[in-house]
Amino acid sequence: MKDPVIHFHRGDLPDDVQFSNVIGVDTETMGLNLYRDPLCVVQLSDGDGEAHVVQLDRQTYDAPNLKAVLGDQSRIKIFHYARFDVAVIRQYLDTECTPVYCTRTVSRLVRTYTDRHGLRECCRDLLRVDINKQQQSTDWGAEDLSDAQLLYAATDVLHLHKLKAKMDMMLERAGRTELAQKCFDFIPVRAELDALGWGSQDLFEH
Ligand code: MN
Repeated sequence: MKDPVIHFHRGDLPDDVQFSNVIGVDTETMGLNLYRDPLCVVQLSDGDGEAHVVQLDRQTYDAPNLKAVLGDQSRIKIFHYARFDVAVIRQYLDTECTPVYCTRTVSRLVRTYTDRHGLRECCRDLLRVDINKQQQSTDWGAEDLSDAQLLYAATDVLHLHKLKAKMDMMLERAGRTELAQKCFDFIPVRAELDALGWGSQDLFEH
């Protein structure tokens, strides 16, 4: 695979950047607690080997171009574990980033032969691509992100389109395409329940 092209932006996407109607998106935060750990970085890709990495201003979160792209209802946003990213984007960017497609949810629906549903495992199993997760535990709040951090951030969005294509076929084969769509449609509600304090509870349990 050829080297990815990484575009780094401080604060917001530039005015002139164009995206297609299906975008791979990921976020990097200071941790996994929605309220304690602020959003630091949002990454986007069209699946064409290029990634845009936006380092946000954590004082203002003033990023109108980014918010417009994420909030555009005519574009599908592909995430791996959308439940978290949707909640974070709502919390810090005050943006409802629907409709979504979640590759982790699909992995749960079609890769029933394993309990390993990380992005790394999905890429290795379905695409024969080995992605490096070494920068996963890193300081995303740093003023200057390292080249290794930028590459890591970009890598998390570069394969989402190919995963989606493969997973769409697997859903079709399993007869679970509609079920997956219903799950995607519920993810913003699931994220809202997380934010309201029902995070670890199954609301539908007896
Ligand atoms: Mn990531």
